[in-house]
Amino acid sequence: MKLESKLPEVGTTIFTVMSQLANEHKAINLGQGFPDFNPDPKLLAFVAQAMADGHNQYPPMPGVAPLLNAVAAKVQALYDMAYAPQTEITITSGATEALMATIMAFVKPGDEVIVIAPFYDLYLPAIKLAGGTPVIVPMRPPTINDPSYRMDWQRVRDAIGRKTRLLMLNFPHNPTGLVLNDDDLDTLETIVHGTGIMLLSDEAYEHIIFDGKKHQSLARRKSLAAHSIVISSFGKTYHTTGWKIGYCCAPKAITAEIRKVHQFMVFTVSSPMQHALAHYMQDPEPYLSLSAFYQKKRDRLHAGLLTTRFRPLPSQGTFFLLADYRRISDLPEAEFARWLTVEHGVTVIPVSAFYRDPNHPDSNHQLARFCFAKQDDTLDAAVAKLAAI
Ligand code: PMP
Ligand code: GLN
Repeated sequence: MKLESKLPEVGTTIFTVMSQLANEHKAINLGQGFPDFNPDPKLLAFVAQAMADGHNQYPPMPGVAPLLNAVAAKVQALYDMAYAPQTEITITSGATEALMATIMAFVKPGDEVIVIAPFYDLYLPAIKLAGGTPVIVPMRPPTINDPSYRMDWQRVRDAIGRKTRLLMLNFPHNPTGLVLNDDDLDTLETIVHGTGIMLLSDEAYEHIIFDGKKHQSLARRKSLAAHSIVISSFGKTYHTTGWKIGYCCAPKAITAEIRKVHQFMVFTVSSPMQHALAHYMQDPEPYLSLSAFYQKKRDRLHAGLLTTRFRPLPSQGTFFLLADYRRISDLPEAEFARWLTVEHGVTVIPVSAFYRDPNHPDSNHQLARFCFAKQDDTLDAAVAKLAAI
């Protein structure tokens, strides 16, 4: 039998590849984005309690009521948007499933989906599986004088056409750390006004934003929220990436379509974890203090990298920062990341992996992504190795 792949160009994700390489070479893994520390013991105790309380069978398909209510209350408190818990919020198997279910629910063959590059690696395969066509709009890459990625909203405007179904956004942005300001939302409103396109807003890092900035969720603007799907991930917020739980909020009619896919993709999500998260969310402090917690780690890694030949770029949010390595090597990014792991015992992610063609010169800017969701000792040990280069 001849197998015909639906995704012939897709290999194993860069995050798995680099973590395997880190394990093989016993390197310090600042690649794949996950904390190397445990969640709050209180949250773990709530899981044990939920299991002992008998929450061990199928929960309702869209999520358990206490968690749906807790998410609704949080979004209302932070973004002043009232989603109806029973009809407008769905608990998903990570942000991943929310993204895939949304794309499967709405993208048809012939539809175009606008994606901003660099982009999270799931986006293109998901669009392709749905039969859609990605239209890629690059951010302006960093320059010597302006060492940050920048959004080019005019190019987004120019990319919208008759066939555009969806515009995908991800702020705080993985991997660049870029965040939206209030005037970006103004611009977005004018760009999409009257176009009829939907907005898929991947806000997995909504609670990790630095220097006193406020997260500009699309849920903040009624005119945007009316045709948006807003997605988040408990994995990032509560140091539980391995639990794979997230959620999406969208108006009732949109949610109904997403749930049609969700119910046949996973049906529902781990019951004791949902109850534990609902319990834990009653206290807003853990998510309200998360930015300050990670800002210290960002600052620690940034300061550490300044003692090396890397040049760290500003990071406004997420638990990632980019650093320029042109003073160390002229290898393309994927080769550099491999070399750094094998020869120097520190693993990073090549930013080129967030582009359609990682080998193309336009995808290579001599940048590496570092994850700082790590214990201070881990960050210090990595910096010591990097300083020796
Ligand atoms: N979107 C982005 C931008 C991410 O970085 C990630 C994971 N790190 C996800 C989605 C997936 O989140 P989850 O692990 O909750 O599925
Ligand atoms: N989103 C995480 C990252 O950017 C990884 C998630 C995964 O490994 N699939 O590193």
